[in-house]
Amino acid sequence: MIFDFDVAIIGGGPVGSTLAYNLAKNNVSVCIIEKKKIIGYPLQCAGILSKDILDINELPSDLILNEVKGSYLSSPNKLLKVEKDSTAAFIIDRVAYDQFLSKHAKDNNVKLFMQHKVLNIDIDKGIIETNRGNITSKIIVGADGCNSIVSKKLNNVSKCYNANQYLVKINQDFNQEYVDIFINEEVLPGFLWFIPVCDNLYRIGLFSNKDYKKQNAIIDDFLESQGIFKNSNLNISDYEVLEKYRGYIPIYDKNKTIVNKRALLIGDAASQVKPTTGGGLILSFNTVNILSDIIVEALIKDDLNILNKYPKKFNKLFNDELNNEMKVHKTLNSLSNKDLDYLFDKVKLNNGEEFISKYGDMDKQSLLVKEFLKTGLLFKILPTLLKSKISNIWN
Ligand SMILES: Cc1cc2nc3c(=O)[nH]c(=O)nc-3n(C[C@H](O)[C@H](O)[C@H](O)COP(=O)(O)OP(=O)(O)OC[C@H]3O[C@@H](n4cnc5c(N)ncnc54)[C@H](O)[C@@H]3O)c2cc1C
Repeated sequence: MIFDFDVAIIGGGPVGSTLAYNLAKNNVSVCIIEKKKIIGYPLQCAGILSKDILDINELPSDLILNEVKGSYLSSPNKLLKVEKDSTAAFIIDRVAYDQFLSKHAKDNNVKLFMQHKVLNIDIDKGIIETNRGNITSKIIVGADGCNSIVSKKLNNVSKCYNANQYLVKINQDFNQEYVDIFINEEVLPGFLWFIPVCDNLYRIGLFSNKDYKKQNAIIDDFLESQGIFKNSNLNISDYEVLEKYRGYIPIYDKNKTIVNKRALLIGDAASQVKPTTGGGLILSFNTVNILSDIIVEALIKDDLNILNKYPKKFNKLFNDELNNEMKVHKTLNSLSNKDLDYLFDKVKLNNGEEFISKYGDMDKQSLLVKEFLKTGLLFKILPTLLKSKISNIWN
C-alpha cells in the first residue's frame, strides 16, 4: 500500500514537534496532525525545566523568563531550604516554546495539519480519520496528551491528576531565585507550587486528586491568607489574578502498552512523566531520541517489528528511575501532616538540607534516594512508625 506519509504524529505539542523534527532531519516524510488553532495555547504548564534541558533539546535564551537556584520546601509547620551554587532550573515561556518547536519542525519539511481533530485510527491499515478527511501513514505516533485517542486504541486506561494554575501579579518583592513547594495532606499526592516568573508575575498552581473547584479554593485560600500553608515564608497581600488555567497530569503507568503494530505512544500519551513532580518534558525529550532511532531503523529495513524494541529500550534507560520516584511518591502520599512535620524536622536536624542540596537532582531523584540509603540517613530520620508504614512500598 502507498501511504501519504512514513510517519504521522497525532498531537503538535512539544513532544510531537520535537519527534517530528528529529525524524525529518533523517529524511523521513512526516506530518503532525493537531486539533488546535493555536499551538501551545492555552498554557498548561508551570514551565520549570532543569538546566539539563540545554543538553537535550534546543531552548532559545529569549524564552527563559527566570533562572532559579533552589527551593523552599514546606510541610504544614516546617520549612526546608535547598539550593545549588548556581542556576538549577529555568522558568520558561511555555506557550512560545511550544510554538518555537512547532515552527522548527515546519521549517524542516514537516507537514503540519492544524485544526485537524483525529476521530479514529485504524492501526491495521494505517488510516487516520480526522474531521477534515483521512490521512494514511505507515507508522502512527500518539503524542496527543493525557487523553490520547491512540492510547485508547491500544486498550490503555489513562489515569490523570487534575492540575490547576493561576498567573498572578503580586506587587511585593519576593526572592526571584527560589521556587516554593508546599506539601500537606490537602494536596498530596501532589503539591502546591509558587514560581517567580518575571515582572512581579508568579505561577501558583497545584496538582492533586481533588476536583477543580476544590483546587481553586485551595489556591484562593493560599492567596488570601496562606490558608493551610501558614508556614509559608510568603505573606501575600497585594495581588491580582490575571489568568487561570487547568489541565491534567498523567499518572505514570509502567504497564501501559506503548507499541502495537504500527502505532506508538510518547509523552503524556504514554504517561511519561516524573511520578514525584508531574514534569514531563525532559523525560519525553530524552525518549524522543531513542524513539526516532528505532523508527528510522524500522523504515530503512522496512520492518515494523523493529518498533517492538521501543518499550525494552525505554525500560532499560528509565525504569529504575521511574520506579524509585514512584516509591517516593507513594511514601509521601502515605504520610499524615504530623508525619510530614516530623520528617521535615528530622531532615533539618540531620543536616538533610545540605545533603539534599548536594545530591538532589530534579530529573534523577533516585541519586538522592540511593545516597539517603547508603549513608543510613534514611533510617536515622524515619521513626519506627513511619518505617512500618512505608516498608511495604520499599520491599
Ligand atoms: C499545570 C501543569 C503544570 C506542568 N508543569 C510542568 C513543568 O513545570 N515542567 C514539565 O516538564 N512539565 C510540566 N507539566 C507537564 C507537561 O506540560 C507535559 O508533560 C507536556 O505538555 C507533554 O507534552 P506532550 O507533547 O506529550 O503533550 P501535550 O502538551 O498535551 O500536547 C498534546 C497535543 O495533542 C493535541 N491533541 C490531543 N488530542 C488530539 C486529537 N484527537 N487530534 C489532534 N490533536 C490532538 C493537543 O491539542 C495538544 O496540542 C505540567 C502540566 C500541567 C498540566
